[in-house]
Amino acid sequence: MTETVCRVCSSEGYFDGLLFKCSQCTAVHWDKWKIKKSFSKLKKDSEEFKTLKKQILSEAKVPKSQGNYCYKIRLRKQKKYKLDNDFYIGRTGLHPYERYLNHLLGKYSSKHAKNYGTAMIEFEGPMKLETSKLREPAWGKEEEEKGFKVIGPRENEEMNIKSNKTPDL
Ligand SMILES: [Zn+2]
Repeated sequence: MTETVCRVCSSEGYFDGLLFKCSQCTAVHWDKWKIKKSFSKLKKDSEEFKTLKKQILSEAKVPKSQGNYCYKIRLRKQKKYKLDNDFYIGRTGLHPYERYLNHLLGKYSSKHAKNYGTAMIEFEGPMKLETSKLREPAWGKEEEEKGFKVIGPRENEEMNIKSNKTPDL
């Protein structure tokens, strides 16, 4: 059964292809299971792989990138593995929905975003590259100040913002 309820705010939403879009908030999520199934027999980065990806992006009405973006993915906590992160925050030159798909397909993928990501809550942009480089750690810091645990993009290292370390910009 295909769920049509937003994983973040529980409102109704709809699917464009394999991408769920909430009608009330900015959250989206890919139908991870169907994506996994569709790509399972394709060699990574083969022509077929690329064609299917293009088709999935087009059916999901993912717009072309207009610059650079920062994005926030909600993570499912894995207490068993002592992974209790709330969000993954990253930046990209792709449209964030395409970047999210790439995480699922294992392309420059964060294992956190790939395995534990449940929804892209929101994104910011388009913006200039330099702006996005500053915004990414700043956004992470904002979330940490609200009490959330954030996994940063660089090598999936924790940002250590709560500690006394100055984030490396
Ligand atoms: Zn929602």
